[in-house]
Amino acid sequence: MQLPTDLPRPREYAPMPWRDDAACKDHEPHLWYPQRRGDIHHHRAVAICETCPVRNECLEHALEHGESHGIWGGLTETQRRRVLKLRDRGASATSAAAWALLSGAG
Ligand code: SF4
Repeated sequence: MQLPTDLPRPREYAPMPWRDDAACKDHEPHLWYPQRRGDIHHHRAVAICETCPVRNECLEHALEHGESHGIWGGLTETQRRRVLKLRDRGASATSAAAWALLSGAG
């Protein structure tokens, strides 16, 4: 029997060496996948992300690889989509100012 060759390939994950320094590495991962924006998990995750030394790397990874779930770099999926829209308009959307602008949205 010959297997079909047009099946989707398994997703290839990019190396994330910056994760060794992640502020979240010793916390429960479910915090970064809250049921609702604004719930206790969301608030705790974002507070931890705000202290993270690899926040830029985390956010860039999520943007580059189209991570569609969870909080990455302290931003929700909706907020990351806004970052991408801002970039499309030429903004440097990973600046602290951009994060501050986005922190109340999404
Ligand atoms: S920014 Fe947040 S999700 Fe990303 S590595 Fe740091 S603590 Fe983890």
